[in-house]
Amino acid sequence: MDLDEIKVCGLCEVIVDEITDHPCTEGYGHIYIDDNYYFYPVLDFPSLSADEDWSLSFKS
Ligand SMILES: [Zn+2]
Repeated sequence: MDLDEIKVCGLCEVIVDEITDHPCTEGYGHIYIDDNYYFYPVLDFPSLSADEDWSLSFKS
């Protein structure tokens, strides 16, 4: 596997080949990938509930 292509789900910490095939991204409109190649599914309006403050809080 090419190192540049490694992506890790930020929710379940599983390495995936194709982000779009990963079940955690199902139903989400956008994927955010951080500098460590963790990806997070985000909605257009990431304010579903107070429990989901993970959505953009990892941005430093
Ligand atoms: Zn996942």
